[in-house]
Amino acid sequence: MNTTYQVPAVLPTGRLEEKIGEFKPSFNPAGAVAEANRCLYCHDAPCSKACPTTIDIPEFIRKIATGNLRGAARTILSSNILGHSCARVCPVDVLCQGSCVYHNFQQPPIQIGRLQRYATDHALFYGMKFFQKGHSTGKQVAIVGAGPAGLACAHQLTLLGHEAVVFDASPYPGGLNVAGIAAYKMKSQAVLDEVHQIMEIGFTVRCNTMIGRDISVEELDKNFDAILFATGLGADSIPELEGVNLDGVTGAVALINRIKLDPNFTLDEVKNAIIIGGGNTAIDAVRELLQIGVHQVTMLYRRSIEEMSGYTHEWKAAREEGANVHWQTIPTAIHGIDNRVKQLHCIRVQGGSSPHVPDVVADSEFSLPADLVVFAVGQQRFRAFFTTLGIDFKAGKVQVNPNSGQTSNPRYFAAGDCVNGAKEVVNAVAEGRQAAFGIDQLLRTN
Ligand code: SF4
Repeated sequence: MNTTYQVPAVLPTGRLEEKIGEFKPSFNPAGAVAEANRCLYCHDAPCSKACPTTIDIPEFIRKIATGNLRGAARTILSSNILGHSCARVCPVDVLCQGSCVYHNFQQPPIQIGRLQRYATDHALFYGMKFFQKGHSTGKQVAIVGAGPAGLACAHQLTLLGHEAVVFDASPYPGGLNVAGIAAYKMKSQAVLDEVHQIMEIGFTVRCNTMIGRDISVEELDKNFDAILFATGLGADSIPELEGVNLDGVTGAVALINRIKLDPNFTLDEVKNAIIIGGGNTAIDAVRELLQIGVHQVTMLYRRSIEEMSGYTHEWKAAREEGANVHWQTIPTAIHGIDNRVKQLHCIRVQGGSSPHVPDVVADSEFSLPADLVVFAVGQQRFRAFFTTLGIDFKAGKVQVNPNSGQTSNPRYFAAGDCVNGAKEVVNAVAEGRQAAFGIDQLLRTN
């Protein structure tokens, strides 16, 4: 069903994510002011330079210190319209907080993420409005994908006076924010509330509308002055392995989606879960399953701890919550009973001539009991879709001018995971906004 998204949407109850608590409590007013007063308001602000959306961090912290929460929220949202979700999901330890000068004095950095959350929560709770639609240019832009890049672009285009219509195949807007962010970082309802706030400027989101099924790119091309592709990535990649079609074998993104949005999804029968991968999505799946109450959660990674791409602090937290791990181990087969997974067969590996093809260690096979096997080894790319449109696509990514988001077709732009290969939400927001300025330049010169 092709629907214009009505806000606010209220998600059904009984979803597994409701069992999961948030891991970063918000500040109380006194705590926020005390933390804000620690800030040195550095002139060169290395924290802001480390933020992909270049939020003026000392400026918003100064406003919190003086009790001007509305002003603090305005400063944040003027640079990053998804500042509410980024306050929760950004890897601040490696971005703004990781660059805070307090590290030079061997002191704890300013808790920038929590301060940002404090200000943006306040603005959302009181329904504050900061932005107005710009004077109409009469130009229309289609945006494919209602994730962070698409929403950031739609918001900025509307500010600039263009009409933006966002199309998304899912029933809810928000992209991976609503369906793929681990629930201990941010709940789906909070994402929809934020989307509501963003959409108040006046652009349309049409959910349950898949490009190629419900509307073609040719129709968009005919009816709009430009198109932004913010498609994200495709379904989980599942390797060809004996037993991958058994019930209880899934991809990590699909699993997190069901935990967050499907009221009929349960993990009651799962005692032993195995997650294959070593990135942040793998760690998210591990921590979600532990917090839901799965008894044994084990990560299997083909390389060593030093080589994992997942953040060290996230993995440390997963270990403290009870995660097991087998380093330098790969799955060889999945066996089941009555078409349901029961056992994962594995083997140890080491080194190898190529990082993708490690050597198998002789006589190192072993098996693990498993009721759930989750592959977190990446997502598929939309190569055929983009190349059919004549858009340059290399190394799994849409090729764009980094200053404008423009693709090899001058009227087509792209931003977010389909361009960067899967970075953070804040990168998608920055790219979506940048593409809006690129589109604006095109529309004003044509
Ligand atoms: Fe404040 Fe730290 Fe940023 Fe300096 S680097 S402005 S102390 S948050």
